[in-house]
Amino acid sequence: MARKTKYIVITGGVLSGLGKGIATASIGHLLGSKLRIIPIKCDGYLNTDPGTMNPIEHGEVFVLDDGGEVDMDFGHYERFLGVNCKFDWNLTMGKVYQAILYKERRGDYLGRTVQLIPHVTDEIKKWFRAIAEEEKADICLIEIGGTVGDIENELYIEAVRQLAKEEGNDNIVFVHLTYIPLPSNVGEQKSKPTQQSVKLLNERGIFPDVLIGRSEKPLEPKIKEKIARFCNVRAEAVISGENVKTVYEVPLRYDADGLTEILHKRLNIYSPPRTVRWRKLVNNILEPSQEIAIAICGKYTKLHDSYASIIEALIHAGAHNDTRVKVDWIEATQIEQGKISVEKSLEGIDGVIVPGGFGTRGIEGKIEVIRYCREREIPYLGICYGMQLAVVEFARNVCNIEGANTTEIVEDGGEVENAVICILPSQEKIDRKGGTMRLGGQDIMLKKGTLTRKIYKEAQIRERFRHRYEVNPMFVPELEKCGLVFSGTTPEGDIMQVLELPDHPFFFGTQYHPELLSRLEKPEPLFRELVKAALERKSQATG
Ligand code: GLN
Repeated sequence: MARKTKYIVITGGVLSGLGKGIATASIGHLLGSKLRIIPIKCDGYLNTDPGTMNPIEHGEVFVLDDGGEVDMDFGHYERFLGVNCKFDWNLTMGKVYQAILYKERRGDYLGRTVQLIPHVTDEIKKWFRAIAEEEKADICLIEIGGTVGDIENELYIEAVRQLAKEEGNDNIVFVHLTYIPLPSNVGEQKSKPTQQSVKLLNERGIFPDVLIGRSEKPLEPKIKEKIARFCNVRAEAVISGENVKTVYEVPLRYDADGLTEILHKRLNIYSPPRTVRWRKLVNNILEPSQEIAIAICGKYTKLHDSYASIIEALIHAGAHNDTRVKVDWIEATQIEQGKISVEKSLEGIDGVIVPGGFGTRGIEGKIEVIRYCREREIPYLGICYGMQLAVVEFARNVCNIEGANTTEIVEDGGEVENAVICILPSQEKIDRKGGTMRLGGQDIMLKKGTLTRKIYKEAQIRERFRHRYEVNPMFVPELEKCGLVFSGTTPEGDIMQVLELPDHPFFFGTQYHPELLSRLEKPEPLFRELVKAALERKSQATG
């Protein structure tokens, strides 16, 4: 019999920001031990992808192996499900309309009026089914962005309503994530916002099977019953989604509250539990025996979402070192403007990360921080811009290359005397903003005998990139002569991808984003070692 994909549709109500991505990823985690689960995210905005959106507004841009730029939710999917997501699994209204307008111009609609219903909704359903088929999915998780009632997601909601009719009741489950407030003056959990939000769904022809109630405290049986009665679901299908200390606890909580069983029954599926090792690691996150502090020195440090994957990678690395990693934020511009000294801002810090970034603002501050880490033997990991600026710092202060800089500052009207970092030849001719970067998974050769190779234990790795500039090959011999080791390159050897300082306790830079591949069950090796080095430094300091 041909495989029949089943669908789990996740919608949100009452408020945005309840963590629908985590909820979706957690559901997938619970079912994913034996089943092939494919997450699909539907966004209402008209950008084709979030690649050109400001990280302050939209959080981190997550990069997929196929080069797709997607939002942070895909980070959750990959981390909780262990799948490599594809760009096509992110529908945006921009992409949907683009496809429709292209067809319209090509004459595919044969003179008919092209309408929101059925043409747009058909296009959306077609998209879902194409993914289901191509991926041979047992289950497609469809997360609909935004909150029910938003104009932006109406067409997705209408599309899944139609999908349910066409696929049949046994093949689709609707999960609605809502908010159950606990007003302090009343002192009890309130169900009204959930009732109203479910009504909005009902008006649109969707009758949720499962309600997950986000709340500060676990849901009381009384509130579960009330919600069940007013929202027309069984009380067992009202799942408690209380606040937890770490997002990795969420699948465990759902499971304990019976969600896995409900989904198994409702869809007539089974996938054995896979939470044992996960549970152990979650315990390590919750009750570690040691603690260190890592500073992230960047430009958007007020909005932690712009460094979401780095924070997660540190949590994973911590769990494997039985260590809590406290993250301190250092605003590079403050150092640059002399508002705070490097020394002061690194007080009590056991390791430093300079993450990816763009533009001129803040870079001199970052360079000062890097210099301090290099000279004072503070464990340092430079990611992308953090690697490039480590090269600039080394060129200026060790090789005495005057005016060494990246040509990225020229874009902002700067001048570069010695361009140790310059534009990739392959990116030179591109002048549109969207999609002009070297993006996605690339192979890297690690040089024999280097620390990097020892850490990764492989001669070749594959990591994800998002950049326009690279180490200028003209300066490589001189940098190497002064002691900088380029331990990883493209297979052709032409682009420098990893650097290390062999005489430093821990000093690495990667042109790629190692944080994107870190998983709770499989931490990224450089992050794991950074935490180890930071622990060592701390024990020496307190020694
Ligand atoms: N701005 C740098 C470049 O484009 C670094 C990019 C990044 O850190 N992601 O190459």
